[in-house]
Amino acid sequence: MNYQDILDQQRRYFHSNVTRDLNWRTTQLQQIKAMVINHEAEILHALEKDLGKPEQESWITEVSYVTGDVDHTIKHLKKWAKPRKVKTPVVAQPGSSYIVPEPVGSVLIMGAWNYPLQLVLAPLVAVIAAGNCAIIKPSEMAENTSRLLATIIPLYLDKQAVTVVEGGIEESTQLLDLNFDHIMYTGNGNVGRIVMCAAAKHLTPVTLELGGKSPVYIDQSANMKITAQRLAWGKWMNAGQTCIAPDYILTHKYMVKPLVDALTKELKAMYGDNPQLSKSYGRIINPRHTERLTSYLDSGEIVLGGNYSIEDCYIEPTVVVNPELDSKLMTEEIFGPILPIVCVEDFASAKQFVLERDKPLSAYIFTKDNEQKQQWQQEISAGSQCINDVVMFNAVPDLPFGGTGPSGIGQYSGKSGFENFSHLKSVLKRPFMADLPVRFAPYKDWKLNF
Ligand code: NAD
Repeated sequence: MNYQDILDQQRRYFHSNVTRDLNWRTTQLQQIKAMVINHEAEILHALEKDLGKPEQESWITEVSYVTGDVDHTIKHLKKWAKPRKVKTPVVAQPGSSYIVPEPVGSVLIMGAWNYPLQLVLAPLVAVIAAGNCAIIKPSEMAENTSRLLATIIPLYLDKQAVTVVEGGIEESTQLLDLNFDHIMYTGNGNVGRIVMCAAAKHLTPVTLELGGKSPVYIDQSANMKITAQRLAWGKWMNAGQTCIAPDYILTHKYMVKPLVDALTKELKAMYGDNPQLSKSYGRIINPRHTERLTSYLDSGEIVLGGNYSIEDCYIEPTVVVNPELDSKLMTEEIFGPILPIVCVEDFASAKQFVLERDKPLSAYIFTKDNEQKQQWQQEISAGSQCINDVVMFNAVPDLPFGGTGPSGIGQYSGKSGFENFSHLKSVLKRPFMADLPVRFAPYKDWKLNF
């Protein structure tokens, strides 16, 4: 079947109203969970082959992320899907008004390679919860996970509603040519622009989950041990290939040494003396990306790490101090295990630094100062924030996930995902009773009638 035929068949199925049924939706969600649990060992193996992901990390950030998402969604689905009553003003009386969430139809889900399971199944949970069909295109760069998903999804999910298409740019381009009802893309902003242009042809709404340079400000009041531990986990998990990982640090000159010392200690505790031998430290997706990352090491002073092996796709957890601000390290999204530290005079200069750049996907601050927390929250625009932590907002299912400006369009996770893939239809229901005469022509003395 060609892709147009798959979409046509999904449309017919969608119009049969099967996918609108809440029982169907719940069964499919249960099946996603069953699939992930039954094939956990194969999933962990595929992730290990694709990214050298440690099992526990894969379990936390991919497997249990998805099963937790399913549980949360099933628990709330009935409430989310219910019509929501709103007030009806006098002009529309007698009548009742409500918002009806309705499925949109067929959604194209295009995943990225860094969390290759989570980034297609978490959107799928939201797409199914909203009562839609889906064509899934996993990232070809994580080829083992892509193949596994293409094998197991048809064994568990309704084949008339969910199809996996494997492939790369050619297949993506052909899919993007079709008239989907929504496109959900996760990946870099350059391809995000290609997706949006393709969607414009059919006026298809898009959700673009993109990246960017997520800053971290560390104030002198921060607890250094806890800051370094949380930072090291969020930065070097998945070898830094996390869209919401800290990209660079802003801090005071005299904080650099204590911070580097604390990071050294935490990294040693996490990955030992030689992270290349550690079973807890992952790999870069491929040699090309490894080379890209090593080309960033020509700016600033390497104060920690710096070793790498292209053939092993390995880069040691690395900290660079005082990089040139016009270097690639400071102008491109790093998306790897290199952490630059930029010295700033004070909190105001840190804010200014962030405000002069693209709106990031996340913005983090470590401080005990309540005024700083308040100002960061109010003045720094970002997809999401953590105060005194990194990444962990993503563990809260009721917090919407998504970027702003160049870091993305649209949000998902929990109710926001359900709504993202629903159309919130407005309905006014009226009985056959006489209306206020002012509404109808001829329009004369209309003010007197009020
Ligand atoms: P990728 O190379 O896997 O590409 C993503 C998808 O786009 C794939 O399915 C791929 O086949 C398709 N694609 C690639 N080039 C294409 C083209 N020219 N035309 C049509 N389709 C094409 O992933 P990537 O872009 O390298 O992912 C890394 C980026 O994704 C980083 O910027 C990261 O921050 C971002 N990211 C964002 C999130 C988020 O949720 N916001 C999550 C993960 C990654």
